[in-house]
Amino acid sequence: MPLRRLGPRVYAWVGTGGGTNAGFIVGDRGVAVIDSLLTPTAGRNLRERVRAVTPLPVRFLVNTHYHGDHTFGNQAFAPEAVIVGHRRAREGLLRFGVEQLDFFRRRQPLLAAEFDQVRLTPPDLTVDSGCTLDLGGIEVEVRHVGPAHTDGDLVVWVPDEEVLFTGDVVFNSWFPTASEADIDGWVRTLADLRRYPARVVVPGHGPPAGPDVTEKLREYFEAVKAEVTGARSRGLSAEEAAAVVGAKDLAEWQGRERHAALVRRLWAELATSRPG
Ligand SMILES: [Zn+2]
Repeated sequence: MPLRRLGPRVYAWVGTGGGTNAGFIVGDRGVAVIDSLLTPTAGRNLRERVRAVTPLPVRFLVNTHYHGDHTFGNQAFAPEAVIVGHRRAREGLLRFGVEQLDFFRRRQPLLAAEFDQVRLTPPDLTVDSGCTLDLGGIEVEVRHVGPAHTDGDLVVWVPDEEVLFTGDVVFNSWFPTASEADIDGWVRTLADLRRYPARVVVPGHGPPAGPDVTEKLREYFEAVKAEVTGARSRGLSAEEAAAVVGAKDLAEWQGRERHAALVRRLWAELATSRPG
């Protein structure tokens, strides 16, 4: 079963095979859900799982960022819930939502009929630095971080239960997707996340973990960046660097094809920051 109880009032929905994670927090007056998954059906399934735990309304749905695998299920929660997102996540879904649909159609053709059902449903309450949600007897802190995985990332901190939901700012046991990431900002963000005294970190993909999971990803980025810098100084091209820069000690991580994409991404960042 993908649902895991992390504490008395906090649940994580753990996607199978590195699929997208979600979660929810149950207060005395209502529920906050974090991310709505890849399809309207998945969103409805998540809504049903909340209903199986509590009859209370879902008052808030927080989108950690605009990517389709975190927002295409939004319609299953509207209009019951206020959808909360960073201002740039709302802009991202409005501007690139159709592009995201095409991207996921190509990647998961078996779900084409599902994607036809998606009505892009952007956040209707936007935040800049963050906000606090009072669910009755438990508070949930929504905080903007980054730029990291995108320029509109939110994390969700539940202080009473010491659980941190990070969206795609953290991947566990999977190589991260970084097609529009700011890697330097991401490294700083991962270091900043250590100030939360988290007992459990729920990443965007991969199983929930202890607080060290943020450090492991930060070290990966630092190591790859150092290797790319070295390859660049040896005069290799981006493609040659992608072929030779290794991801050592991470044999257990999955989605290795993303590693080469990250090398190209870092190459581009270095080319911008140090011309010639
Ligand atoms: Zn993402």
